Amino acid sequence: MNIIDIISKKQAGLELSKEELQFVIEGYTNGEIPDYQMSALLMAIYFRGTTEDEATNLALVMRDSGDILQLGDVSGFKVDKHSTGGVGDKTTLVLGPMLAACGITFAKMSGRGLGHTGGTIDKLEAIPGFRTSLEIKEFKDNLNKAGIAITGQTGNLAPADKKIYALRDVTSTVASIPLIAASIMSKKLAIGTNAIMLDVKCGEGAFMKDVLHAKELAEAMVKIGRKAGRTVSAIITDMNTPLGCAVGNSLEVIEAIETLKGYGPTDLEELCSTIAAYLIMDSFKERDFDKAYKMANDTLHDLTAFNKFVELVELQGGDTSYVYDTDKFEKAKNVRYLMAEEEGYISSINALNIGEAVCALGAGREKLGESIDFSVGIKIKKKVGDHVVKDDVVAEIYFNEKGYDRAIELLCKSFILSKEQVKNKLIIDVIRQK
Ligand code: URA
Repeated sequence: MNIIDIISKKQAGLELSKEELQFVIEGYTNGEIPDYQMSALLMAIYFRGTTEDEATNLALVMRDSGDILQLGDVSGFKVDKHSTGGVGDKTTLVLGPMLAACGITFAKMSGRGLGHTGGTIDKLEAIPGFRTSLEIKEFKDNLNKAGIAITGQTGNLAPADKKIYALRDVTSTVASIPLIAASIMSKKLAIGTNAIMLDVKCGEGAFMKDVLHAKELAEAMVKIGRKAGRTVSAIITDMNTPLGCAVGNSLEVIEAIETLKGYGPTDLEELCSTIAAYLIMDSFKERDFDKAYKMANDTLHDLTAFNKFVELVELQGGDTSYVYDTDKFEKAKNVRYLMAEEEGYISSINALNIGEAVCALGAGREKLGESIDFSVGIKIKKKVGDHVVKDDVVAEIYFNEKGYDRAIELLCKSFILSKEQVKNKLIIDVIRQK
């Protein structure tokens, strides 16, 4: 086998075998295949695409490039959830405790935010003391004790994907659906959960800008899951407008806590209850969607999910007094308000602008490793469909030294008004394995 023949084969649009993909991935990961040849192959895949078998094999050989986290010694039905990244997406913080409260084990490795999208690990680190880098043993012990653990990516999970993703980033080959699907699934398949739910965000503030592409990605990942013998579903959800009202690390943790106490924004509550319902159905605890939805949703109103969150924070070394009293979170020094300029209905709130505005304030990072400011962010006071009159506050901006001018410039063009009321459709589609 040689790499030049493999590049030519893909250039001609032919299917690469598992052995060929293994040869390439192993060779690239251990440095025998140089960046320029791997770049040529990635570009050929970018233009020629892959078959379903090829995408699955790519995911599997990338998974097998590193450690596999077996969860056989963890009790219960184990689930995982992955979001392709959005603005105001604090779903994991609410969903995990809900599932744990329903007796389902939530085993999650999360990432940090990059660019305009936030990351769960950054949000959790807004809670003083919260440790996001658990050893495998502690991760599993906590799963057995509390039914929930959330950690940053530990160990050597899918190292081939890490190296290839960095190369894709600088060769303009990120936006390829089979490459994205294989990349995400290589990491998901490396963790031995019983069921996985993928939240594919769609719209202005997401990777996938339109429903067609979001659906294509969701279906590609669900098929990889099925071919790999795993239970995988996908939900396609709107990311034209931010999820919930808070965007920024501490503000999002506070909103997640409010949701866990039953008074969070309705869109966040609906999304978490829906994802939880499908995972409950996968576990066979309940087969009927409405009953599973109610089972999940009830945990937000009887404090059982909130209590699970407290347990999670305690087990991972966080100061639980912040969870009981969210006024303790450090506040940004300044608050200013964005007001409506006329009467009307909010018809859209541009998630990308809001994400970039919050990033400009210092809540996000442009490059891996940069430090972030937990206290800054934006609170949306009027959502899509709400009526406003002139001078109503539509958003609050929490800021310190950095980025206010840029944030306000972005924010001013983010809220669009219309004469007629429009409703936002949060859940666009759900793809279950056939
Ligand atoms: N997220 C990933 O993990 N991989 C991609 O290729 C794109 C988004």
